[in-house]
Amino acid sequence: MKGVFVVGAGPAGMFAARQLALAGYETFIFNRDIRPGGLAQYGIYPVKTKMKTGLRKQFAQTLALPNVHYFGNVQIGAAYDLSLADLETMRPAAIVFACGAQGAKKLGLPGEDAKGIYAAKDFVYHYNQLELFSQMDFSTGRHAAIVGVGNVAIDIARWLLLDDPAHTTESVTILARRGPLEVKFDRKEIEYVESHLSREELAAELERVKDRCAQAGQDVSPEKVFPEHFPHLNSPDFASIPPRLSIRFLSSPKAFETDSTGRVCRVVIAENELVLKANGSTSARVTGAASTLDVDTVLFAIGDKHDPQIGLPMGPDGYATSPNPGTPDEPSYEVWDPTAGKTYPGRFVVGWARKASTGLAGVARHDGELGAKKALDYLATATDSGTCTAGEIVARLKARGLRVIQKDDLALLARAEEAAGPIQQPNSFHFIDKPAILKAIDEEAAAPQAAARTVARAD
Ligand SMILES: Cc1cc2nc3c(=O)[nH]c(=O)nc-3n(C[C@H](O)[C@H](O)[C@H](O)COP(=O)(O)OP(=O)(O)OC[C@H]3O[C@@H](n4cnc5c(N)ncnc54)[C@H](O)[C@@H]3O)c2cc1C
Repeated sequence: MKGVFVVGAGPAGMFAARQLALAGYETFIFNRDIRPGGLAQYGIYPVKTKMKTGLRKQFAQTLALPNVHYFGNVQIGAAYDLSLADLETMRPAAIVFACGAQGAKKLGLPGEDAKGIYAAKDFVYHYNQLELFSQMDFSTGRHAAIVGVGNVAIDIARWLLLDDPAHTTESVTILARRGPLEVKFDRKEIEYVESHLSREELAAELERVKDRCAQAGQDVSPEKVFPEHFPHLNSPDFASIPPRLSIRFLSSPKAFETDSTGRVCRVVIAENELVLKANGSTSARVTGAASTLDVDTVLFAIGDKHDPQIGLPMGPDGYATSPNPGTPDEPSYEVWDPTAGKTYPGRFVVGWARKASTGLAGVARHDGELGAKKALDYLATATDSGTCTAGEIVARLKARGLRVIQKDDLALLARAEEAAGPIQQPNSFHFIDKPAILKAIDEEAAAPQAAARTVARAD
């Protein structure tokens, strides 16, 4: 049998798996989390119900395909449950790596590891209630700084200002490395928090940085910036409401100071200049000037990086892919070994694993599908590798003491959720941390009515 392994069940992995299965290949998904979805479940903002429900339905359709096999709660990587070498012993004809970008970028600043300083992805995993992250301390206080000015930064500001059940936040300050014309958030995202800005304060901030932006040939007057990036600020009935949201442009964190408990209490902020580059883009250059801001919480929303523990060779944007540049529409997907200077035949990388923090779920879907197409081209002429059957794979995983979650377990979990009634937080679950989920599955399996609904197990 020529079976295909997919590592990761986010949008890239699930849509790649769908293509591979529809082409007739036995497709085996290995996923770190118990539930499928990746950031589509545990990253996208909790109340985006239409989007999250739509994606969940599509993932369920993929899992319903008879030649798709799901092995959740299995983390791939030398330091985890199953190394790449272990995977290879099960003789996959091809492997598609769709494990996203699980690491967080750090700046290496003094005090960066203090209490109260978090990576954005870990924080959103926490408020979206992903297993272990849901149980970890991500306490926030009264005054937060968010480093970064993209959609993830706005999601986090939205959570702190509007939806955090703790409601402790009095102010959120976004630190933007460059100027007002380089903000990365979409208009429809800023709309959720715009009313927490002060028109006067933002106008004063634009005035503060206008000369430095003018050096790069930019006009950052409110007449230009407001209509372009803050659609409601100019409206006559705009009214600012607490808690307060501020943006500081041309500002980079330089160091963090802590209080007697080891929690961050102050960020030292370097003032930047804006430099116009030859290609027309801009960059930030630190000046000698600095200031401080009292905070008790800092969130880094500056992008993600790849988990080196998985064991794939690392490249500049993600796991290394063949240097054959391809085209922007069809980039290179094959895993590349830069040391040996050759590709790993039949091994592909898709989605955020290929290019971290790039685009929305639809982009990851498209990338997964293109990568799957490359895998299908390869499989068409590949020799039969004699891939293990689902039953053999499950037996091997169990022999290692792993509690593997299969499709029938997901069905039991869904029934347990349904039986437990309506949930409090939209798009979340009753059973959140791993022990609670496993207990719910076991209890549902043992319930008398479950016997009547037995779903055929792969083993
Ligand atoms: C905070 C935030 C908000 C977002 N909001 C939106 C939005 O509103 N709309 C939108 O369209 N997009 C949004 N996105 C982007 C979207 O979530 C991503 O484009 C998409 O999820 C990337 O898909 P992926 O499959 O490449 O990676 P991921 O979604 O990260 O999936 C990776 C999968 O791999 C698994 N995995 C990781 N490591 C291992 C391992 N070692 N072994 C086995 N499995 C592993 C994970 O469990 C996960 O299931 C948001 C992203 C973030 C971070």
